[in-house]
Amino acid sequence: MDTRLSEFRPIRIQRYVPELDLLNNPLLRSNEKEFLADFYDFLEEELDEDLRRLEELNYLIEEPIQNKKKEIVVQIIKKLSKNGYYSTLMQEENDYGIGRIMKNALIAYALCGGRWSDYSERYIAGNWSVEMTRLAGGTLYCNPVDYKANQFQREKFLKPVAVDGQIGASAMTEFNAGSDIFSMENRLIEDGDDIIIKGKKVFITNGMIANYIIVYGRLNNGQLGAVLIDTEDQQLNNFRATRVHTYGMRDAFVSRLIFDRVKVPKENLLHGHGLDIMFHQLTEERLIISAEALGDAMKKLQYSHTWALNREQFDNRLHKYQVIRFPISENIRELNLLISALIEYARELDARPELGGSKLMAANTMGLKIETTELAFQSSIHCFRTMGGRGFIRQYSNQIGLLDPYCMIHGGGSNYVLEDSESRRFFKTKPTQRKKDIIPKIDKIFPENR
Ligand SMILES: Cc1cc2nc3c(=O)[nH]c(=O)nc-3n(C[C@H](O)[C@H](O)[C@H](O)COP(=O)(O)OP(=O)(O)OC[C@H]3O[C@@H](n4cnc5c(N)ncnc54)[C@H](O)[C@@H]3O)c2cc1C
Repeated sequence: MDTRLSEFRPIRIQRYVPELDLLNNPLLRSNEKEFLADFYDFLEEELDEDLRRLEELNYLIEEPIQNKKKEIVVQIIKKLSKNGYYSTLMQEENDYGIGRIMKNALIAYALCGGRWSDYSERYIAGNWSVEMTRLAGGTLYCNPVDYKANQFQREKFLKPVAVDGQIGASAMTEFNAGSDIFSMENRLIEDGDDIIIKGKKVFITNGMIANYIIVYGRLNNGQLGAVLIDTEDQQLNNFRATRVHTYGMRDAFVSRLIFDRVKVPKENLLHGHGLDIMFHQLTEERLIISAEALGDAMKKLQYSHTWALNREQFDNRLHKYQVIRFPISENIRELNLLISALIEYARELDARPELGGSKLMAANTMGLKIETTELAFQSSIHCFRTMGGRGFIRQYSNQIGLLDPYCMIHGGGSNYVLEDSESRRFFKTKPTQRKKDIIPKIDKIFPENR
């Protein structure tokens, strides 16, 4: 059954807003604009139809839509991969002369936000769920594997995802260990030449459509480790993935995973400490989620702006009311400030890859992730307010993706945990410093202590 009321028309974005067009941003260089413009063309020509099909499925109730969605999402990832837009690792040199991370950020922004097309005179859809699918496989799976895999593991586990467009997933979160990753209970039992995986994971993006998963857990000595699995098209013995039904991100296959003593060869184990492997890619992940959130905020602002222009109440268009207008201009201002930071961070990380290991850079991108996802959240709340009753029904909330930013306040590490750890850091005392101050004094008194 289609849930749409025939009296309600879909919202049609009809006006170009220069401040909401990244191609119009004076900070972006000509080669970066060229790459972005080509991606927008690809979005319009190759993905728009698939994204509209996904949207149509979300208006239906009482009908099985999961397999249809799966087919569309897998096909989208294949298309992205064929054009070098899925993982930005192991790709041939691009002609644009822009770095890998900038490329990743521009794709994330554009795929979430969509864009007004002058050529077709209509808005080309963006979809945060599909971008999360791309991020989970292309970055969260590929980057840690690239960091630690040996030659055998690169061929067997990295190439199929990074080059051939198979679906990857990264499994950290558990029922009892969410933000507190260190209390992970999933076991990676070392048994001769095998590893036996025993435990459960939850909220794993792509889990039930993944061909390959990086699974984190506890080794025999209690240390955290990471093992790679080939799900054999989800047929792997003693492994089961089921859908977690979310209210936003409805086209992302967020899943629960059950490992009931899954046996894999020990050669699938990545060398090194699990925490180091997990945290290694954090800076890039935070930056790309920031790009996603900014693209999504732009999309929400497009919808609020259109609705404010078109809807008339009390003999006035809504945009005549300051309560509607002010938050839109405030959000646009903030959007462009945060885009400037995103561009600078991405360029610097490409120019100086060693910054990927900098604690201050990690903290800066964490700050950007918090600010941008909160902006996406606020823009969505304002869009909801502007829409009146319509914001409340699936007919509109689905088209706008109103609830997606609610999920991303927690996706990629919960904002409140990140903020709390940031504020604690500001007040940390340095015992090593104090010790240094004291030791010379003691040495003076008792020189034989040296
Ligand atoms: C859309 C989406 C996709 C996801 N995809 C993946 C994925 O692919 N792989 C994966 O492994 N995980 C994934 N996750 C899981 C996500 O990373 C976790 O939800 C997140 O880490 C929070 O853990 P939790 O849900 O257990 O919340 P909890 O840790 O239980 O936190 C509950 C609340 O308490 C707050 N809180 C907890 N500790 C503190 C603290 N120390 N200080 C201040 N506040 C605190 C949190 O901010 C939160 O508001 C995804 C989540 C979402 C929403």
